[in-house]
Amino acid sequence: MDAAEFRKRGKEMVDYVADYLEKIEKRQVFPDVEPGYLRPLVADSAPQDPESFEDVFKDIEKIIMPGAASPACTELETVMLDWLGKMVNLPKEFLAEKDGQGGGVIQGSASEATLIALLAARTKIIRQVQSEKPELTEAEIMGTLVAYASDQAHSSVERAALIGAVKIKSVPSDDTFSVCGSALKKVLDEDKAAGLIPFFFCATLGTTSCCSFDKLLELGPICNKENIWMHIDAAYAGSAFICPEFRHLLNGVEFADSFNFNPHKWLLVNFDCSAMWVKKRSDLIGAFKLEPLYLQHHHQESGLVTDYRHWQIPLGRRFRSLKLWFVLRMYGVRGLQEHIRKHIRLSHQFEHLVLQDERFEICAEVVLGLVCFRLKGSNELNEALLKSINDAKKIHLVPCHLREKFVLRFAVCSRTVESTHIKFAWQHISQLATDLLKTWEHNHHQQ
Ligand SMILES: *Cc1c(COP(=O)(O)O)cnc(C)c1O
Repeated sequence: MDAAEFRKRGKEMVDYVADYLEKIEKRQVFPDVEPGYLRPLVADSAPQDPESFEDVFKDIEKIIMPGAASPACTELETVMLDWLGKMVNLPKEFLAEKDGQGGGVIQGSASEATLIALLAARTKIIRQVQSEKPELTEAEIMGTLVAYASDQAHSSVERAALIGAVKIKSVPSDDTFSVCGSALKKVLDEDKAAGLIPFFFCATLGTTSCCSFDKLLELGPICNKENIWMHIDAAYAGSAFICPEFRHLLNGVEFADSFNFNPHKWLLVNFDCSAMWVKKRSDLIGAFKLEPLYLQHHHQESGLVTDYRHWQIPLGRRFRSLKLWFVLRMYGVRGLQEHIRKHIRLSHQFEHLVLQDERFEICAEVVLGLVCFRLKGSNELNEALLKSINDAKKIHLVPCHLREKFVLRFAVCSRTVESTHIKFAWQHISQLATDLLKTWEHNHHQQ
């Protein structure tokens, strides 16, 4: 949708809302649809090709309004998470379909999804331990629980453990910044020997610092065997799995208990929209279900009815699946795949430009839209380069440390980015590096 159409559609939307409010007395206050009414009205999977805004919009009155507000909101979300799950080819156990044990939910952020997974895992393990040793209190058990994540994991994982009041340990990543099976096995063996209970492992696909991937195919079987909940945080990288050529990066998801990625990061859906799936919805509901009398007016829960308040921390929720529905239909799977592929093509273009300049080095394999690079030389030199780039305010880079090295990160993210922008960015960086190296060598000489 270009700017001209956006203006037009935006104005139509305002009219739609104003008409709705003007004629609100003609509408029924409570819907009379049956649970499960929505699924048969919507396709089984996302369209391959784009649909027009008009076609999508027509369905609002036809499909959404009869179920306003709560049934439509819940049911569209369940179906959209099935669409999205199929787009990344998740194993069937993660889908809700008509009577599945699993299913998806939209959380506000990856941090929240990790926290929810950790809390569900904590409840599950406490109940298991108590059934074997009823003399132990919940507090005694919690004192022995340990969660794990890569030393490259996002800080939100440590945060989840902090909020969940359990220990967390980082598992050393290998020289490609990935956690492999033997590294996890080693810490598990040590901790079990010390009387601790490992219960949760958060694997990362696409780490924030350098977009590395933990080795799910090695880690998954270990977690399954050791009765450890495996959660996968693919906040950024997950969107790429809609392309068949990148789906192999998700191999091993079949061993996971929960999986999460953020369509709001790389799938053109506005913030916030973090998609989370579980294999066993009963694990979440078991952890969070409380039913005070004032909330018992809802339908009896059945396989057909999902009650998302048991899947999340807040009670109330927004209708976030609408934007997913619009984006998936207006781009089509093919349109979204093109978007991802273009970004990855452009990051490789940048990588090639870096490699052609022998003053620079690439610091981690370029897999998706992130390029980690630096000047060959000291950390101080690279810190100075970053400062001169960010001070110029034409492009903006965020750095990271990879082991002891200070590294610059070039991330392709804009919806409208083109090859010319990449060339511009590289020319700019290269010129600033030339300027910096002149004064740097000069100063160095005088010392
Ligand atoms: C961005 C990111 C997060 C944090 O995402 P929020 O949705 O902001 O909580 C967590 N993990 C990884 C790997 C990320 O890239």
